[in-house]
Amino acid sequence: MKKDIAHLEVEKLNPSSPEIICHQATINIGTIGHVAHGKSTVVRALSGVQTIRFKNEKERNITIKLGYANAKLYKCTNENCKPPECYSSCGSDAPYEIPCSAENCNGIARLVRHVSFIDCPGHDILMATMLNGAAVMDAALLLIAGNESCPQPQTSEHLAAVEIMNLKHLIVIQNKVELVKEERCIQHYEQIKSFIQGTIAAKSPIVPISAIMKYNIDVVIQYLCEQIPVPPRDYSADPEMIIIRSFDVNKPGEKISTLVGGVAGGSILKGVFKIGDKVEFRPGIITKNPDDSFKVKPIESIITSLYVDNNSLQFAVPGGLIGIGTNVDPSLTKGDGFVGQVMGHPGKMPDIYEAIEVNYYLLRHLIGARIKKSNLEDGSKKQNRVKPIEKSEYLMVNIGSTSVGARVSSVKSDVCKLFLAKPVCSRINYKVALSRRIDKNWRLIGWGEITRGRKVKI
Ligand code: GDP
Ligand code: MG
Repeated sequence: MKKDIAHLEVEKLNPSSPEIICHQATINIGTIGHVAHGKSTVVRALSGVQTIRFKNEKERNITIKLGYANAKLYKCTNENCKPPECYSSCGSDAPYEIPCSAENCNGIARLVRHVSFIDCPGHDILMATMLNGAAVMDAALLLIAGNESCPQPQTSEHLAAVEIMNLKHLIVIQNKVELVKEERCIQHYEQIKSFIQGTIAAKSPIVPISAIMKYNIDVVIQYLCEQIPVPPRDYSADPEMIIIRSFDVNKPGEKISTLVGGVAGGSILKGVFKIGDKVEFRPGIITKNPDDSFKVKPIESIITSLYVDNNSLQFAVPGGLIGIGTNVDPSLTKGDGFVGQVMGHPGKMPDIYEAIEVNYYLLRHLIGARIKKSNLEDGSKKQNRVKPIEKSEYLMVNIGSTSVGARVSSVKSDVCKLFLAKPVCSRINYKVALSRRIDKNWRLIGWGEITRGRKVKI
């Protein structure tokens, strides 16, 4: 059914209504944890979608970019069908009602949630990508392999990263339980319990599963439905989307008459976008003036199509990865060229900054790194201590879905000024993550909040 989108009353839309969740996800769930602990496998078990999609990822069997998969979560309407068996999941093209999958139940299961999984890479050199994903997560599954001691380096580093990004809802998953004896499994469970003590995951449920055998997947679905609230969203706000991926969907040699514009994929943070909306991408095209200062040219465009997986939409609300068809030159969006851009309505967008002042906090110890002795920061006693930020050093800053290099131009105990390697569209009060290069890799050292900034003139 086509809706009359010209008269869409956004304030009357309800994020849990069938009208919305039949078409798109309204919550983003990250998968975090150490490499090979089963993040991509659990997403496949829940959604039926294989998130590894790039040729080089297949060859190396690791996730390099952020993976995406949508899943519809169902609950049986038959009162006699009890949890967890009454819960099930399907891919995002399944209908509103499906036959219940519980044994001996002939009931009808009804759609209760439509979620989008953001599958993070677990490899330590891909922390920046993980942090970009964390910017749009509403909740996360922390995967911990039951056949390795806990925690492994990125188990701790990812947990610290989502803590920094203010994530509140976590489900801890003890995976690969079919590989270990019951006794070992219980010991490992206790290890997880003491590891999460004092972290944001302290009160989270710990669910033993086997992602590959699909044991206890229904329990994970039950927790996703019962313990993770749909985040409150402001549908009537000026809409804003951060771009996480972008593409040129034209085949090589495409005729000019059938050429389509650039496609951007991202998550809407607030507000509603409709087909036909005039939009602006910021910072747009970045160049330099003769005096080496930055010049930015925001890009104006029109939304020509909106889609989720293969379904086209008339309008899109916050949550999930939305594909936006535009009339932007596809050479700009090709190969993730638009990552880090912010999309909104012209005249209603955040400013673009080339330098920011950040009120920061440093982690006490480096987490997630196995550091060579020779590279310990200062002496063996202070193993893994995060040393203070120094003037002129080069850091990496994650702002929204952008990672950008930054030179420290001045520093005090809790405030530093950063010259950004490229201008970024952001807001005062936004959170940023700070990383330092250690042993050739970027390691998370702290976080902060933007307190002031120097804008780029447009
Ligand atoms: P990721 O790096 O965290 O995304 O891990 P993957 O999902 O790619 O899984 C890494 C490896 O562990 C793959 O070979 C999976 O088949 C395997 N694996 C994942 N889950 C399970 C499980 O429950 N049991 C067993 N035995 N292997 C698993
Ligand atoms: Mg993976």
